[in-house]
Amino acid sequence: MALSTDALSTKTLCPYCGVGCGLEVFPPARKGRKITRDSRGRPIWQAVGNKAHPSSKGQVCVKGASVGESLNKDRLKEPMMRDALDQPFQPVSWDKAFERITSEIQKSIAQRGPNSICMYGSGQFQSEDYYVAQKLIKGCIGTNNFDANSRLCMSSAVSGYTQSFGSDGPPCCYDDLELTDCAFLIGTNTAECHPIIFNRLKKHLKKSRNAKLIVVDPRRTDTAKAADLHLAIKPGTDIALLNGIAYLLIRQGKHDPLFIDYCTDGFTAYAQVVDHYPPERVAQVCGISVAEIEQAAKLWAASKSVLSLWSMGINQSSEGTAKVRTLINLHLMTGQLGRPGTGPFSLTGQPNAMGGREVGGLAHILPGYRLVKNPDHRRVVEKVWQLPAGSISPQPGLAAWDMMLALEQEMVGVMWIAATNPAVSMPDIKRTQAALLKSPFTICQDAYYPTETAAYAHVVLPAAQWGEASGTMTNSERVVTYCPAFRDPVGKALPDWEIFAEVGRRLGFEPQFDFADAAAVYDEFVGLTSGRLCDMSGLSHERLAKAGPIQWPAPVCETADTAADKFDKRLYTDYQFPTENGRAKFAAFHLKGLAEPPDERFPMVMTTGRLLGHWHTQTRTGRIEKIVEKYPYPTLEVNPRDAQQLQVQSGDWVEVRSRRGFARLPILVTQNISRGTVFMPMHWGFLWADNAEVNALTHPEVCPISLQPELKACAVQLVPIEKPAKTAKPTTAQQLLAMVQPTPAAVKQPVSAGLV
Ligand code: SF4
Repeated sequence: MALSTDALSTKTLCPYCGVGCGLEVFPPARKGRKITRDSRGRPIWQAVGNKAHPSSKGQVCVKGASVGESLNKDRLKEPMMRDALDQPFQPVSWDKAFERITSEIQKSIAQRGPNSICMYGSGQFQSEDYYVAQKLIKGCIGTNNFDANSRLCMSSAVSGYTQSFGSDGPPCCYDDLELTDCAFLIGTNTAECHPIIFNRLKKHLKKSRNAKLIVVDPRRTDTAKAADLHLAIKPGTDIALLNGIAYLLIRQGKHDPLFIDYCTDGFTAYAQVVDHYPPERVAQVCGISVAEIEQAAKLWAASKSVLSLWSMGINQSSEGTAKVRTLINLHLMTGQLGRPGTGPFSLTGQPNAMGGREVGGLAHILPGYRLVKNPDHRRVVEKVWQLPAGSISPQPGLAAWDMMLALEQEMVGVMWIAATNPAVSMPDIKRTQAALLKSPFTICQDAYYPTETAAYAHVVLPAAQWGEASGTMTNSERVVTYCPAFRDPVGKALPDWEIFAEVGRRLGFEPQFDFADAAAVYDEFVGLTSGRLCDMSGLSHERLAKAGPIQWPAPVCETADTAADKFDKRLYTDYQFPTENGRAKFAAFHLKGLAEPPDERFPMVMTTGRLLGHWHTQTRTGRIEKIVEKYPYPTLEVNPRDAQQLQVQSGDWVEVRSRRGFARLPILVTQNISRGTVFMPMHWGFLWADNAEVNALTHPEVCPISLQPELKACAVQLVPIEKPAKTAKPTTAQQLLAMVQPTPAAVKQPVSAGLV
């Protein structure tokens, strides 16, 4: 595909968050138009909101609008290899790279068995990439050691939905934002993390004066500032609050006995637990007033349609699944489900986190919302994959943090990391980095170079970036969008799925990976969803390209373009749930609280989160000038009374210490954070700032059900320090490379060979 000045615009999806806004992308050179360039004179692609996209209707935030600027910066053009981490990378051909990867995989399987192979993927993958990776790792290699960074993001939502409703899949749709009487936002700074969702909600609240917004968050975020009721609970006390609201609703007879009797199981045990959460106790535990809890219950009871939204504040917790289920309990007991404007709605963090769930992109699942533990599910998938019975292991694979533990214990032979940056995003990052150093062979597959994780790799593989590979993505409301390639991959970069398929063929599985193109991959995958909750068997690249984005279920019986209208936009409208008896399940959980509560030595709670402009570990946004200008360095939010006690003011520097490490950064004194709590953003790895890694502080305790780490909170102490002499962020590729290469002399060749 060659660049043309006559090229038409392309309709695609924003590659950042799970809102899944439609974009229309224009080439830098268009007939009759001036070429747009960045400050270094490089032409940049223009992205604007696609008005025809049903999920976003033309809206787009700063990240989506500026994504075109990232396409040509610091791109990895060709594979590079080295024998040891203290050597410089040398450019190699794809053939050499594939040869080495195949032989390392074969060697590791022969010496230690298939479970010595691990792949850590990403919600940035398109569904086709995810699918081929599942086939390679779970089917052909025979280990379920495939996990994705979605584990750090929304696996508690997956397990919560699955246990409460019998299957994954958010029951709601974005239209509910404009149909709700009461939006209950808990553990989500929607205004910054899912801004277009928040815009829709805010417009609705402005128009419909009776609709109310409740926000539960320890911080007074931009989201909380817009609320009718802000419940600034202490970090980690969500379950007490939710049980407290349930207590009042039951006492006031505001539950729905008919719905409970006919559609659910387990209410009695739940009500017994709730009985322990009178408002006085909840107020004391949560650090809010009885009146505030009563007001929340009153608003919930008075509303015909309550819509709950949540995100990392609920999911990233050592009791993440319990929190999700406790929130769903409230919907079940009040029958607030399956109707317009109601339901529990998890907001996904990544553009294709939902697609990853559909294709089985976590260590315990298989394509089509199937489970590796289920023998019937395994057999169905093995048949489609033309593999002998027993090829797929019945044991769930290693989840993200468990992979780090396996590295630490030297149980891994090959660690394959694609489209993600665990050297920044994992908890307890110094321990993670030490574990990565122990890997005998690490593949880092990414569109950009350098990244922090590349410092730990033996092979780096150039992956085609957004816009360079055709495929599909599913957003938070189950809408599937076809994202066509609109330019050639840079240098020798290949789509992720093609890289996986070539390794599969070289391992001897030619028929399994004989795909003509991404459309053929998609056809095989959607066939596996037939008859499942996430039925997409009626979709194809061709149909999506022609008809535009389509929400599932979209079974094969549909032939006309209007057939999607046959299906409700919401799940469970008939109150039949995919459990063994068709009923949804209550779950009774007491509050356990933070895995690492504050104590005498570490008296404060640090919460973590995202900023509007940056995305995850800055692999892409760190290369966009106006975003970097706006957010040049992280700051720590501190309450004025805590600042006074420490005798510091805004701009002063502190060292934040936890049991695992430290970070040094300037503070921002603000009433937006409660006393005893501090907030630190999560975007800065060692490439972008000195000693400002939030995960140097966090701990790796996980939810025992979802295995999602509690990245949201840990105990810390603050120590005022002088501003360090060297605080400048590295800004050039040379400076960045110097941080991941052994000596400046050694990096010369890879710099010119590896970057564009
Ligand atoms: Fe992209 Fe999310 Fe912003 Fe929409 S809200 S433009 S999907 S980052």
